Amino acid sequence: MDWVRLVQSISDAITVETDHLNLLDSALGDGDHGTSLAAGFAEAARRVAALRSTSPAETLKATASALLNSMGGSSGALYGSLFLRAGSATGQDDLATTEDLARVFRAGLEAVMQRGGAQPGDKTMIDALYPAVDALDHAVSDGRTPADALSEAARAADAGAAATSTMIARHGRAKFVGERSIGHPDAGATSVAIMFQAIARYWKENDHA
Ligand code: ADP
Ligand code: MG
Repeated sequence: MDWVRLVQSISDAITVETDHLNLLDSALGDGDHGTSLAAGFAEAARRVAALRSTSPAETLKATASALLNSMGGSSGALYGSLFLRAGSATGQDDLATTEDLARVFRAGLEAVMQRGGAQPGDKTMIDALYPAVDALDHAVSDGRTPADALSEAARAADAGAAATSTMIARHGRAKFVGERSIGHPDAGATSVAIMFQAIARYWKENDHA
């Protein structure tokens, strides 16, 4: 798998959804989530393209530092932690099996939960990330290929993001909106779903193993 192009394709998918993500964040926060994440992934795409070693671990770590340096906001630190911990959990691995992907994304999820303190049901990016990682674990038990596992993870992330509409926000700026957050999906959960869709699509189109 070409991890440099994978990061580029996440960046493209987020860029396309920038206005949509800003709109979601403007209902519950300050309206910058799309712009901020698009800038973060554009910087990540630039940095990974300049790497000399493009192993999965190096690519994930370079993505993390780009997100941490260029995003700002709470989601910069959270997205940065996700990629940083995923990169550390990768080690020398080539991340080619469903087991590897499940393990590495689980590590990333745990980092975001530790850093942000959110649990499922709190109306944050965790509500898309947690079910996506669970879907990867199920895919391991069911003996699925990585491409199928990632498609299932993307579907689970999508459903998780949609379900945030009915939740009351307990973290970040959206917390101040309280019960009025009901009826609006969370921007961060939506961006996580977009990211998994991009990864799943890329894997399906490029994994001919
Ligand atoms: P900011 O709130 O600083 O403007 P963004 O708009 O980029 O940052 O991101 C907002 C998103 O960050 C929210 O939609 C939510 O998904 C996520 N978020 C905020 N706080 C937390 C937290 N403590 N844990 C997990 N995710 C969080
Ligand atoms: Mg915001």
